[in-house]
Amino acid sequence: MRSYLPDYDLVLSASLQSTLAMLARGEGWRPIAGGTDLMVLLNAGKLPFRRMVSLRKLDELRQIVVTEANVTIGAAVTFTQIQDHPVLRSEFPLLCQAASWTGGWANQNQGTLGGNIANASPAADSAPPLLVHDAQIRLISLNGRRSIPYAEFHLGYKMLAMRPDELICAIDLPRRDLKWRYHGRKVGTRRAQAISKISFAGAACFEGDRLSAIRLAFGSVAPVPLRCFVTERFLLEKSLTEGRIREARQILKTEISPIDDVRSTAEYRCMVAQNLLAEFLGTLQ
Ligand SMILES: Cc1cc2nc3c(=O)[nH]c(=O)nc-3n(C[C@H](O)[C@H](O)[C@H](O)COP(=O)(O)OP(=O)(O)OC[C@H]3O[C@@H](n4cnc5c(N)ncnc54)[C@H](O)[C@@H]3O)c2cc1C
Repeated sequence: MRSYLPDYDLVLSASLQSTLAMLARGEGWRPIAGGTDLMVLLNAGKLPFRRMVSLRKLDELRQIVVTEANVTIGAAVTFTQIQDHPVLRSEFPLLCQAASWTGGWANQNQGTLGGNIANASPAADSAPPLLVHDAQIRLISLNGRRSIPYAEFHLGYKMLAMRPDELICAIDLPRRDLKWRYHGRKVGTRRAQAISKISFAGAACFEGDRLSAIRLAFGSVAPVPLRCFVTERFLLEKSLTEGRIREARQILKTEISPIDDVRSTAEYRCMVAQNLLAEFLGTLQ
């Protein structure tokens, strides 16, 4: 069933302050950025609200700012902007890779990082890289600003640690030295225009032949994008032998809880998650 457009209000807000004031009024206003998630719902007659305030004119949300400590990505920065940014390309390759996997070019030109995060899907392509890159989410409301680690932002399926009067204003990525080795994969029905069945991002650092740091994150293996701390702890400070990789596969299996849905089965996701982990660890050997 399609929606009847005159039933909906859309306001192009001229300032961040007036946007926050509308969200704070509690009259059902919700933000819209690129609209690539919301317009699908509207078209299907499933949009859960009728009043939208557009972030399109808010230039402060569309900037990428590089400082010595962080790269700060405005929430309304598009996937195309992310892929084109030289510092993101060299220091945060997993995020740029995920941006290039998100839908097709039209999607990447419109869809924003903030929208991908706020949509709260466990299959969102940006989620595993954000977990691995230790992203911090900056929130703003009329009551002030706060920052929360992305690893703590998902409270449950489609539930975020964000109030209705709050807006994601930016995402901070701490800059690291370049000794990290990265690996990302998206497994979907096709190479483009397909929501992932499962996705993976990994990062590792070595001291000699021992892993001195490791980050492992998956999409679509749990109700929320998952950082696999138990498997990480098992691998940390150890060298990578075939036996240890086999053991890590078994530990990972206990840490994830994939489900059957329209895109895949729990069994397939479980097997592919283990294969992706082994593939990553194999590249490090
Ligand atoms: C054809 C197609 C293919 C797609 N393929 C992929 C894919 O491969 N991978 C993938 O991950 N996604 C995919 N998507 C989903 C979508 O493109 C992304 O999730 C995109 O990042 C959403 O961003 P947006 O700016 O368009 O969000 P919008 O649709 O504008 O908003 C999405 C949600 O976020 C909220 N929101 C937006 N900005 C903010 C903010 N700053 N603060 C708080 N809340 C906010 C909105 O209220 C809404 O609830 C696809 C969509 C389509 C239509």
